Amino acid sequence: MTTTMDCNLGCYYCYEKRSDEALDVGDADTLVEIARERVGRRGKKSLHIDWYGGEPLMNLAFMERASHALQDFCAAEGILYHASVVSNGTRWPQDVSGFVDRHRIREVQISFDGLKDNHDRRRRYRPVHRTEQDVSSFDQAVSLVDELVRHTRVDLRYNADHGNAGDLAGFVELAIERGWFDGPYRCVLMVAKLSAYSDRSAFLRPHELSAEEFEALQALAERMLPKDARDDQDIVDGFPRPKTSVCGALAPDSAVVGADGLEYRCGLQVGEIHRAVSTFRRGLPLLGESGPGADSAWWDSFDPTRLPTCSRCSFLPVCWGGCPKRHLDADQAGVADEGRYWRTNLPRQVAAGFGETVPDGFAFTEADQFRDDTNVIRREG
Ligand code: SF4
Ligand code: SF4
Repeated sequence: MTTTMDCNLGCYYCYEKRSDEALDVGDADTLVEIARERVGRRGKKSLHIDWYGGEPLMNLAFMERASHALQDFCAAEGILYHASVVSNGTRWPQDVSGFVDRHRIREVQISFDGLKDNHDRRRRYRPVHRTEQDVSSFDQAVSLVDELVRHTRVDLRYNADHGNAGDLAGFVELAIERGWFDGPYRCVLMVAKLSAYSDRSAFLRPHELSAEEFEALQALAERMLPKDARDDQDIVDGFPRPKTSVCGALAPDSAVVGADGLEYRCGLQVGEIHRAVSTFRRGLPLLGESGPGADSAWWDSFDPTRLPTCSRCSFLPVCWGGCPKRHLDADQAGVADEGRYWRTNLPRQVAAGFGETVPDGFAFTEADQFRDDTNVIRREG
């Protein structure tokens, strides 16, 4: 649920258009109707809302109204309700505990861009929204996490690029010293690579870490963090399981609600109106085949077993094509990165299943990854 496209910070890498488009308290009833259709009528047992933006807490009026309307709907229908928030950590109310309880928030993601110097320089206040309290976006986010870890799970997202990779060790030390991993709820740290997700963020390419540099950072975090503080997907603890789905964008009962009144399949597409699949706000034109909405059929028919690369790939059962948006965007480099990930990590996972480790530097080759159909047929023959 994208409450607003607006944000009080102007991060240099942000691909959002930071317009003042926002959901209105009057939209809450429409959203309840969508929930009734997709959750209630389909017999689903739970509803999860991820509050997202821009900075979602910049539209508190809508959030309060919609959260309560959706909770009331779920209570009346006997449906479990829970929520999460992705936030920059600078616009939270004083009563953090009350806010978490009131909105049934079971997870909050707060992003960091390095230690104070780097973070404040990269996450600058935009003059249009700056208040007297806004001195350091780093200090505000740190104080919030100090409080949040006492009330709910916290995911610390460390956005890494060339300019702040050197801060990671100091940031992990700070998190350990402040006791963020010792609270009553789990707190995990995930290192994310700042990347160009779409053409809108192509300017990021020169800042991107190479795959090797990024893996070195992940390894550093792995060495320093307590095991419980590592992101689950980074913990190698046994055989990988075959997948049948990789993300909410493919789930028919999942929806990304844009602040512009449009519905998207993937959260990274919000604001790219030609990628919208439908509209939910009355008064907007219906989406047609030639304009917005044209991707709808692509998502419905996405099948990695039919893709030219994935259909020949030995990793298909555990990867399932990776992020579908990369295929939609014809992002060949992104798809190649996925293959590289599995060539290195699948051996580690298989070895861990036997309680073993692989020799340093061992990885599957591209010939292991891509089967030669002629050989397969010959062998079977
Ligand atoms: S590793 Fe690459 S080629 Fe193989 S299934 Fe995943 S995305 Fe497709
Ligand atoms: S399509 Fe890719 S980026 Fe979008 S939600 Fe799925 S995995 Fe994430």
